[in-house]
Amino acid sequence: MTDLKDIAVAEATAQSGTPKMTARNVSVFYGDKMAIDDVSIDISQENVTAFIGPSGCGKSTFLRCLNRMNDTIPSARVTGDISLDGEDIYDSGMDVVQLRARVGMVFQKPNPFPKSIYENVAYGPRIHGLAASKAELDTIVERSLKRAGLWDEVKDRLVESGTALSGGQQQRLCIARAIAVDPEVILMDEPCSALDPIATAKIEELIHELRGRYAIVIVTHHMQQAARVSQRTAFFHLGSLVEYGETTEIFTNPKATRTKDYITGRYG
Ligand code: ADP
Ligand code: MG
Repeated sequence: MTDLKDIAVAEATAQSGTPKMTARNVSVFYGDKMAIDDVSIDISQENVTAFIGPSGCGKSTFLRCLNRMNDTIPSARVTGDISLDGEDIYDSGMDVVQLRARVGMVFQKPNPFPKSIYENVAYGPRIHGLAASKAELDTIVERSLKRAGLWDEVKDRLVESGTALSGGQQQRLCIARAIAVDPEVILMDEPCSALDPIATAKIEELIHELRGRYAIVIVTHHMQQAARVSQRTAFFHLGSLVEYGETTEIFTNPKATRTKDYITGRYG
């Protein structure tokens, strides 16, 4: 087992360029139960990073470490170090509300506020004081909806409820909401699992368009999706990071037996 861990750590730290986020020796416990076991990984700015692995292996738990969403789960305890642009995000001086704007999150099930389409996007910029006037706020809302590929579909109905949109539109609205506060990183936890194939394809296209502007991490249990949207893939199993590297390498030439077994469908 040690050899596999060595491979993972070596890969984790072998990326070119300065990483946007780094995790070192991160473990997560729910009460006494360990859900993440000593994970080290670099997240790059310019690539889309996919987290794959069977259900229950800790993908969501680890993703939530990256913007301290586990803080909201009373039994969860995180150890190790995580930094954003070299800054320790678990430092006692870190403003967690600010952190979650810088490291935004999109969830499995689209969760728009029960408010208008406009308000869904305007809410964040308003509470973060990003707009000095109504006109500026309008500009941010329009730009965010455009970047999320939703503007043309909603520009004439901004006052309608966000919850009245289709599932795929709601998910793009949630992406627009994350974009509106000018994030640096966007975390997506199985963002297409509640969507039909056409809505899924739109989200995947959008991920391509957003690549480079934001560091993107996507959790997916759908291996073809990981292969389509990401340049780096991390394979998790039973709370460990088994292997991390170029997506094409992971899918065509995995080093670890457990990765090979997973991508060839030996377990789900
Ligand atoms: P994945 O996203 O890969 O399916 P999770 O991160 O959701 O995996 O879960 C990893 C492990 O942690 C599982 O054993 C799961 O049951 C456990 N777990 C997840 N969330 C909680 C929680 N809030 N409280 C207790 N255990 C949890
Ligand atoms: Mg999950």
